[in-house]
Amino acid sequence: MEVLPITPRGYCAGVTRAIQIAKETVMKYPNQKVYMLGMIVHNQHLVNAFSKLGIICLEDQSSTRLELLDQIAEGVVIITAHGASDAVFEKAKDKGLTIVDATCPDVEKTHDLVRNHVGNGDVIYIGKKNHPEAEGTVQLSNRVHLISKKEDLEALPELENVLITTQTTLSILDTKDLIEACLEKYPDAICETEICNATRIRQEAVLKLENIDTLFVVGDPSSNNATQLCRIGKDHGIPNTYLIQGPMELNEDMLKNANRVAITSGSSTPTKLTQAVIDCITSYAKENDFHQELIQIDSIL
Ligand code: SF4
Repeated sequence: MEVLPITPRGYCAGVTRAIQIAKETVMKYPNQKVYMLGMIVHNQHLVNAFSKLGIICLEDQSSTRLELLDQIAEGVVIITAHGASDAVFEKAKDKGLTIVDATCPDVEKTHDLVRNHVGNGDVIYIGKKNHPEAEGTVQLSNRVHLISKKEDLEALPELENVLITTQTTLSILDTKDLIEACLEKYPDAICETEICNATRIRQEAVLKLENIDTLFVVGDPSSNNATQLCRIGKDHGIPNTYLIQGPMELNEDMLKNANRVAITSGSSTPTKLTQAVIDCITSYAKENDFHQELIQIDSIL
């Protein structure tokens, strides 16, 4: 069995930056409560590691960032890499909280694009419903219209001077189809795809794979970029594609008939977890044994 770790994989610059900012915040405010408005990035291992450092992660799928702020009376609030709307920053300021902004610069860029356009027209934003990045962008103006599928597009009313843009972590394949559908309905629209470079090159690396029968994506099920890597693998025709959170989720059934195995990871997956998966699969390829009992993952920060 051949084992092929895919390059690039794992942490992007935006995630590395957000982790660094969160670590520095704990050191800078040792006597204050430090809250994270949602998961710093979508990876439960990282959230647990930050919790050990004393950061309180406020995560509730049914609450918006604005609503989550109601749970904080005082202290420091970290805005996650996914960004937040202007209303969230204003509310945090009004409550007297110290705001630490770990928004990824690529998300900021999309926000600026939207802010600059809504004075002159409407924005169709292709994104995932209930995702914090989409929430933060849609809340910038009531002229931003979120769509996730063609049915959402059909439901849109007449719009003026349309700009089509996207969430940063979408599938390059799905987004292309949806943009084409938007342009059919609004032929004069301008289009600025905002899928970030980190997402794009990780997906393109999967699309370049040849003769692979098994693909492992190491990542959290709540991570959009990890789940999209899996979808890209399936759309690319790889027969067996698995999203796993770490080496302990590997099992013999996944590998016993595999010949060429590729491994990648979402941009919020800790490097040590991905490396442990690579080591485990490599040991299985050599000895037909995972040696999972030898895996020790110490601090992932
Ligand atoms: S995936 Fe892209 S947008 Fe998200 S944090 Fe990384 S670089 Fe930023």
